[in-house]
Amino acid sequence: MRRQLERTLWATAFLAVLLAPVLLAPVLHGPGPRDGSSLLSQLSVGMGLLATSMLVCVVVLPSRLRSLTRTLGIDGVLGIHRFVGLAVTLLVGLHIILVVAAKPANVALFDIVHAPNRARTAVGATVALGALVALTVLRRRLQQRYEVWRWVHVALTGSVLVLSALHIWWLNHLVRDTAMRALFTVLAVAALGVLGYRWLWLPLRGPRREYVVRELRPETSTVSTLVLEPRRRDGHRRGYRTLEFAPGQFAWIRLNPSIGAQEHPFTIASSAHVGLWTEFTIRHSGDFTSELRQLRPGSPVWVDGPHGAFTLDLRRCTGLVMIAGGVGITPMMSMLRTLAHRRDRRPHRLVVVARTLDDLLFRTELSQLQQKLDLTVIELLRQPPPSWTGASGAVDEDLLTALLPGTFRRNQLDYYLCGPPAMVTDVLTVLDGLDVPQPRIHTEQFDLV
Ligand SMILES: Cc1cc2nc3c(=O)[nH]c(=O)nc-3n(C[C@H](O)[C@H](O)[C@H](O)COP(=O)(O)OP(=O)(O)OC[C@H]3O[C@@H](n4cnc5c(N)ncnc54)[C@H](O)[C@@H]3O)c2cc1C
Repeated sequence: MRRQLERTLWATAFLAVLLAPVLLAPVLHGPGPRDGSSLLSQLSVGMGLLATSMLVCVVVLPSRLRSLTRTLGIDGVLGIHRFVGLAVTLLVGLHIILVVAAKPANVALFDIVHAPNRARTAVGATVALGALVALTVLRRRLQQRYEVWRWVHVALTGSVLVLSALHIWWLNHLVRDTAMRALFTVLAVAALGVLGYRWLWLPLRGPRREYVVRELRPETSTVSTLVLEPRRRDGHRRGYRTLEFAPGQFAWIRLNPSIGAQEHPFTIASSAHVGLWTEFTIRHSGDFTSELRQLRPGSPVWVDGPHGAFTLDLRRCTGLVMIAGGVGITPMMSMLRTLAHRRDRRPHRLVVVARTLDDLLFRTELSQLQQKLDLTVIELLRQPPPSWTGASGAVDEDLLTALLPGTFRRNQLDYYLCGPPAMVTDVLTVLDGLDVPQPRIHTEQFDLV
């Protein structure tokens, strides 16, 4: 109910931001062309206004507003962020084409040496926007480090915002009317407020969310579990500030409270009912995760969370079907551990996909959980050894048909997919082939780009 309300409120807020400038402009200026301006130039203004409001939405979406990630999930937030970002680029392209089509002499505005400030800022914003999209699309091909990509992405986004604001300011006719000026001020304050929350308030309030490492437990040669406990704070009522979360949610971890420090997302793997300790199971794949491996008991760690909507606590179903690839098993472990604490009686199914036998995680604990829960576990290896008698290859229709009940009961289950993007996409296709209802499928991909 609360989630539905939050969803409705966010949808209304985004719609209001998107439509207000486009709807207000004709009300103030009259519906038709004015001052001799052509329909094409009116259209170009409309496209520009829509692109501006969409830009505000693009900035707000990934700003870690907890209510937003809880409502849409991180995959949903980032999917919409990318989609709206591309739409802004398209609208800016159309805006420029229409500016020239309305008055061919406007081509001279591209000459940034002689052009007025309003045109220079527009060219600058367009170039920054083009670079932003190109770097995002080509990131993997360019093999750019995530951290470098992220800071370039943030810097380019800031440039697009500032240059677009200056473009509107220097255009003058858009901010001449008091109502329009008030609207742009509200949009600017909203964008600045959200950016201030994300880049100042969140990092600066870090010390209140300080944890210490209790233990770093190896799981395999490349994966270990980081156990954290809150740092004791004398001022707090009970001395500790524990992390309350729903099973399947994630948190951002940093090893340094300063504003520019690296911060990475990890799913909370422990039960939501354990209390004091919070566990994260982490594959040491790159620089940050390797740094985590060096942590010693007592080392400080800063946690921002919980975030995300990839949790069983937001929905009702008759049982769960969980399909996990590699370390994507972490949210499933949190859900299963929590269900065991709750003495859940529903039938659940878990497919664990791993590359080799050594990569299979939590085998012993999963057999213990099978004693406590009505849980079927299928382990599937992509590269099985000759002695392997279990499932191998890919998660396909045969495997899921054998695992799932008939169509009617199948549609009452909730499906949770987590793992590498390619695996999640493949399993989505299989579930689609089995006519599993879309709203029943929930995904989380351990990749933000
Ligand atoms: C919602 C979510 C939950 C996750 N949960 C887990 C988990 O429980 N266990 C686990 O082992 N991994 C998890 N990951 C993946 C984990 O965040 C990355 O593996 C980690 O950030 C890699 O950092 P690195 O510097 O060691 O590796 P790098 O080699 O620098 O990065 C490897 C890849 O990880 C991604 N990545 C890197 N830095 C970040 C960042 N700051 N934010 C987001 N993505 C980044 C990029 O796609 C990059 O290509 C999760 C990711 C997401 C989005």
